[in-house]
Amino acid sequence: MSIQRFDAISESQKRTPVVVTETGRRSELYAANVFNDERMLQYLTKDALESVRNAIFSGTKINRKIADQVAEAMKGWAISMGATHYTHWFQPLTGATAEKHDAFFDLLSDGKALEKFGGAQLVQQEPDASSFPSGGIRNTFEARGYTAWDPTSPAFVYGTTLCIPTIFVSYTGEALDNKTPLLRSLNALDEAATGVAKYFDKNVVKVNATLGWEQEYFLVDRALANSRTDISLTGRTLIGNAAAKGQQLDDHYFGVIPGRAIAFMKELEKECLLVGIPVKTRHNEVAPNQFEIAPVFEEANLAVDHNLLLMDVMDKVATKHNFKVLFHEKPFAGINGSGKHNNWSLTTDTGVNLLSPGSTPMKNLQFLTFFINTIKAVDNYEELLRSSIASASNDHRLGSNEAPPTVFSIFIGSQLNNVLDELEGVTKGRLSPEEKTELKLNVVGKIPEILLDNTDRNRTSPFAFTGNKFEMRGVGAKTNCAKPMTILNTIVAKQLQDFKKEVDTLIDKKNLKKDEAVFNVLREYIKTSKRIRFDGDGYSDDWEKEAKRRKLSNNKNTPQALQVLTSKESMELFRSMGVLSETEVKARQEVELESYVMHLQIEARVLKEMVYNQVIPASVDYQSSLIKNVLGLKEIYGAAHKSLSDATSSIIEQIGENITELKKKTDAMVIAGAKAEKISDTHKKAFAFCDNVKPYFDGIREHCDKLEELVDDRLWPLTKYREILFIK
Ligand code: ADP
Ligand code: MG
Repeated sequence: MSIQRFDAISESQKRTPVVVTETGRRSELYAANVFNDERMLQYLTKDALESVRNAIFSGTKINRKIADQVAEAMKGWAISMGATHYTHWFQPLTGATAEKHDAFFDLLSDGKALEKFGGAQLVQQEPDASSFPSGGIRNTFEARGYTAWDPTSPAFVYGTTLCIPTIFVSYTGEALDNKTPLLRSLNALDEAATGVAKYFDKNVVKVNATLGWEQEYFLVDRALANSRTDISLTGRTLIGNAAAKGQQLDDHYFGVIPGRAIAFMKELEKECLLVGIPVKTRHNEVAPNQFEIAPVFEEANLAVDHNLLLMDVMDKVATKHNFKVLFHEKPFAGINGSGKHNNWSLTTDTGVNLLSPGSTPMKNLQFLTFFINTIKAVDNYEELLRSSIASASNDHRLGSNEAPPTVFSIFIGSQLNNVLDELEGVTKGRLSPEEKTELKLNVVGKIPEILLDNTDRNRTSPFAFTGNKFEMRGVGAKTNCAKPMTILNTIVAKQLQDFKKEVDTLIDKKNLKKDEAVFNVLREYIKTSKRIRFDGDGYSDDWEKEAKRRKLSNNKNTPQALQVLTSKESMELFRSMGVLSETEVKARQEVELESYVMHLQIEARVLKEMVYNQVIPASVDYQSSLIKNVLGLKEIYGAAHKSLSDATSSIIEQIGENITELKKKTDAMVIAGAKAEKISDTHKKAFAFCDNVKPYFDGIREHCDKLEELVDDRLWPLTKYREILFIK
């Protein structure tokens, strides 16, 4: 009998790196397939160009006539790039992207064929959307959903398709995707941050959020990945012993990148650059077969689109290199999982990073304003921010001593802590001229030089200030960054709005000067947001206890973490900032909970299948051969066989005991699963899977892994960690 495992191993061993030729300079490749400003300049009339630029900068509408012109130009360009089809490219709540291709082709009434693509097709489409999750927003009798062009993210040609980034909304205008609320949050943030930035520079008209993500992933040989049902269907290994050599030698991190992997990366980077993803950094990560790719940061909406596009490009390029990319947050037990750090900041249209200290006291007061308001925002809504990174797969990673804990806190480093401590002492109300001078020279004025030596970095913090940006570290490798970014933008927008009101009141009612008012409000924020600041070891048990004393939330699993979405405060926040309506929030929570349930359902089913169809049969086979051996010894040696067959008998027994326990636990899991599936309330159902089904997984795994240790290697059907994890 041929075992798929051995076929896969021998196939994987025959592989050599795919030859990739480096063509041209990277700067020449960059955005070659993107209909960006440079291309528009070539293809659009002056009016049309202006109209699109206005839409990008200030969100003005593009009229139908202009849309027709843009569509015509886009079509001409796309066809010259070899495109045959176009698609509205969108982000349904499944977490991935979706596309439906239509050919640039139509028949006239006289039967003549022509290439057709007009403003109507560019601006709006109605995909058959009934199979996308809507959390109850769309009844089946009104299944219509619309995709609408997002001109702020340029169209691009990928393969032979013109891809047009779009939002996805229901017939009644509710968001059915992750992009719509992100755009709304960016609007809210722009408005609030511009208002505050004007205190410091009247010329500021717009503030953009910026995002630079760092994507971690695993590369596994395709044949080896496909040889295991769990990797194929769930993206992770549900069972399997750690390899004798894992990451303990730390020899993979930043090490020499294996040949097949480097070929994959080269091609990946080329493909990324062509579609406008400005990738820059590549390196090995901590675990064997784990890598990271990171771009230059961009405006947040564009960066989110680019991250989603990246994951798609990675899948496609990997196939060509006989790899499978694993984005799961914890594909292998016992070694590190994968995350996606989100570096976030705010930039004005005048080119100033608002979270970067400047060269004058005034610029530093501006820095402190945005810095302290972000801290205050995270303190106010730490639980909501935590909810934005919750998922069945990320539950395996958060809080397991390799990734930030489930408690949110902020690391700012000792120097900035000192600055905030000093600011806390600012006098209430009017400041004396001496105090002002002292503040300007010795506190605010010293920031830039201080930050240069601020080299202490804390890798255990979920939200760290890193010199000119905040880095959110708990985001899962699979997660659509739109989710955490929407929440972060919204809470900071709300906070800046409140801040402006307070400062204006002090100026108008108490006759304070602007900088006095700013100092006064910041002082109070520093005092009231202290609990969120923590520079110690975020992985330690002591911190968990301390966080509890500070009344910080600590939601360890997804169903728990998602509850806060529909709290009165959250709903009010989303409503007042114009980000999500009550119906939309509830729908989103419903979709997230359903997705959680489905992930666990699938894992439980796959686990059962593997236990019954692979682990138990292989173990019984081996046990039978041992029994035959013992019987043979008895036949030859009679009563004297005992001393000879002791060891074998003991293995027979161990296998028997493990099989018995394994079957018991698996059956109990199946019963718990069936019971949970009957629950109709999604919240209760999610908790049932979390509390009653999932706890069996570890116990089942333990017996499987024990059997893997006992059973003859030649009979074991599942590709082992040591065989999967070390590509050449
Ligand atoms: P690391 O965190 O690994 O030490 P860096 O500090 O160089 O690496 O930056 C990591 C990421 O931060 C990069 O993806 C980069 O694009 C992004 N980044 C840098 N500046 C900003 C910014 N102002 N806004 C958003 N992201 C930024
Ligand atoms: Mg980083």
